[in-house]
Amino acid sequence: MSLLKKEQIIIELTNQGLCITSEALDYIIKVGINKEDLEKLGTIVKKLKPEIFIISEDTVKDFIKIEKTKGENSNNLVLKVSEKETQEQISPTESSPLLSAREILPDIEIISDPAGEKTMGVREIDDFLHYFRDRFEKLSNLLKMRRDVEGYIPIKAVKSLNSKDEIKIIGMVKEKRSTKTGNVGFELEDLEASIQAFTTDKIPESKKKAERLVPDQVVCATGRWMTNRFMVTDITWPDLPFTDQKNRAKEEVCAAFISDIHYGSGKFDEETFKGFIRFLQGKNGAKYLAEHIKYVLIVGDMVDGVGIYPGQEKDLKIPDIFEQYDGIARLLSEIPDHIQIIAIPGNHDATRQAEPQPAIDEKFAKPLYDLPNVSLYGNPLQLKLHGVNILLYHGRSILDDIIGFVPGLSIDKPAETMKELLKCRHLAPYFGGNTPTAAGKEDMLVIQSVPDIFLTGHAHVNDFSKYRGVFLINTGTFQKQTDYQKSQGINPTPGKVPIINLKTFKITLIEF
Ligand code: FE
Ligand code: ZN
Repeated sequence: MSLLKKEQIIIELTNQGLCITSEALDYIIKVGINKEDLEKLGTIVKKLKPEIFIISEDTVKDFIKIEKTKGENSNNLVLKVSEKETQEQISPTESSPLLSAREILPDIEIISDPAGEKTMGVREIDDFLHYFRDRFEKLSNLLKMRRDVEGYIPIKAVKSLNSKDEIKIIGMVKEKRSTKTGNVGFELEDLEASIQAFTTDKIPESKKKAERLVPDQVVCATGRWMTNRFMVTDITWPDLPFTDQKNRAKEEVCAAFISDIHYGSGKFDEETFKGFIRFLQGKNGAKYLAEHIKYVLIVGDMVDGVGIYPGQEKDLKIPDIFEQYDGIARLLSEIPDHIQIIAIPGNHDATRQAEPQPAIDEKFAKPLYDLPNVSLYGNPLQLKLHGVNILLYHGRSILDDIIGFVPGLSIDKPAETMKELLKCRHLAPYFGGNTPTAAGKEDMLVIQSVPDIFLTGHAHVNDFSKYRGVFLINTGTFQKQTDYQKSQGINPTPGKVPIINLKTFKITLIEF
């Protein structure tokens, strides 16, 4: 097909209801276009950028790529169908014009952030009691919202019961253990009394459920009082309600989720991370998608830290914590500044280890605090982006505690363990485990508000699942497998970045 002349191009575009700038026209004439490709170009521009009616040179370059055709002098224009998949992530409707992330104002509302007094930690034994009382009350209130918990009685009332009718009690799980008969025994405790509970062979379902119990979580147990013990017939978790309530952004706006960069580690994959940054700059493929990214959420472990585990020195490329934060800040400063970077700490970051963790300490990370588009919060953090409720938790309890308690979970599928946390409505239910917890006045690790997206990191394995309408994403990492991970059988997935459209909830996984 022959190439179009200047006048023909103008006429063709006018017929499609489009205008063109003289620079764009010169560019098209220079590279050469036939009628069919020009028609396609017009159609794509109208579909993907409906707010545009004057085609600029940039737009032309966005949608066409030039391929040299062997043996001919002329270039061939190929419409960028290779990016079709990522383009489909953005689907403008007539009611909402398509704006790029640069044109959209940030819309961030913090729901809860562990900062200030509340998280100062235990100072007196009273504070400790207050903490557990708060945990019990918050979780039992969530349980009481369930219809199947109706009619529960306080534990102290159980022991004076004469009947063997089925009853319901609410308590915090203490000391879960296996009995000689191969059943599960555990203590349940409320604010006034405690009781010994056991499963029986007669109801294998209740045994299966009891095996999934994590100490210090609050559940409702159904059962019968048999003179001196409570025989469990069923267990109910606070869990998530079945609702259709879904918060979605009105705008076509995307967020990228990353974590566990581990800057400073000898295994930090700098080239891959730079590839991610070039992508955000629009210089490394999927440009169309990149243009709509307004947020980068970092779910902890920005640096490898120092003194995190015995012998860490030999694994570090940068053994100084100040230099580590300086280095990561330098990399993040290359992210275009219309993109808001929201970061929480992980167990490798410079802040208190006990959860909830305050934000990364400014003393160590001044260069990060100086970046205009970076906001640092505590771990966990719950916020709304364009109305979408997102819960960020670094995820230490997943790998360090929960996997060991609940049968059937694996380190390759962290999203399955994330479901357990949602069922418990608590981010780190086991108090005395490997996840250090600060018993503040209030238990900020209770999942009070149901998120639309639940994000964790720490596992270094990208994983995705959905549970009762909530999108669960374990972000992944930018660190290659360490010797320790090798010894533990952990196979990290460095460089995989999930990107979600906050309006459509379509997820694109890009591998850098
Ligand atoms: Fe990590
Ligand atoms: Zn971690």
